[in-house]
Amino acid sequence: MYITEVVLDNFKSFGRKTRIPFYEDFTTISGPNGSGKSNIVDAILFALGLARTSGIRAEKLTDLIYNPGHQDGESPDREREASVEVVLDNSDRTLSRSQVVSAAGSENVGDVEEITIKRRVKETDDNYYSYYYINGRSVNLGDIQDLLAQAGVAPEGYNVVMQGDVTEIINMTAGARREIIDEIAGVAEFDQKKAQAFEE
Ligand code: ATP
Ligand code: MG
Repeated sequence: MYITEVVLDNFKSFGRKTRIPFYEDFTTISGPNGSGKSNIVDAILFALGLARTSGIRAEKLTDLIYNPGHQDGESPDREREASVEVVLDNSDRTLSRSQVVSAAGSENVGDVEEITIKRRVKETDDNYYSYYYINGRSVNLGDIQDLLAQAGVAPEGYNVVMQGDVTEIINMTAGARREIIDEIAGVAEFDQKKAQAFEE
């Protein structure tokens, strides 16, 4: 399974609907400082529910909505909304149809060659709302996390190596580094289950 496309609409510096294609093996994004490269990574983390707001460099969720006055600290007035769609090629059936159906809570998910995960954030006068979708079906964050976990993608899973992470890993104690390797290898999950079993 791999990402084929990320569609940003009104997200951070992307004030227009922008489709970014990804390749199967390797995709590089280059551009000047401040041009929005990291915002694309933030968009993926946002849509897949893999990071807290601080992890995608925002104080609050609504800071993620495109704001033309962002540089000057101005706040916009109209009702605002941002969305990000991550399109996954699932032609290798990393996720089975029944896994997708169960996460989406509906048989009506089309064929699962392609899985689209979408998140919207909407701000009204006095509140904000966040919505998640799997293949167009409205779901909860937990449904997305459960589905992705079955493909080995998890918030604590080190699927994304952020700026500064490598230095942090180098500076860690051997024990802490071992924990990360266990997490990546999928061993940590069993350590937790074992500890739980002993407790019981
Ligand atoms: P670098 O090479 O320095 O890492 P980058 O290409 O990763 O740069 P980003 O951090 O992705 O750049 O983009 C930063 C830009 O996004 C800044 O100019 C910032 O003003 C803009 N930005 C962030 N949030 C918003 C927003 N809500 N509305 C408009 N622009 C935003
Ligand atoms: Mg950057």
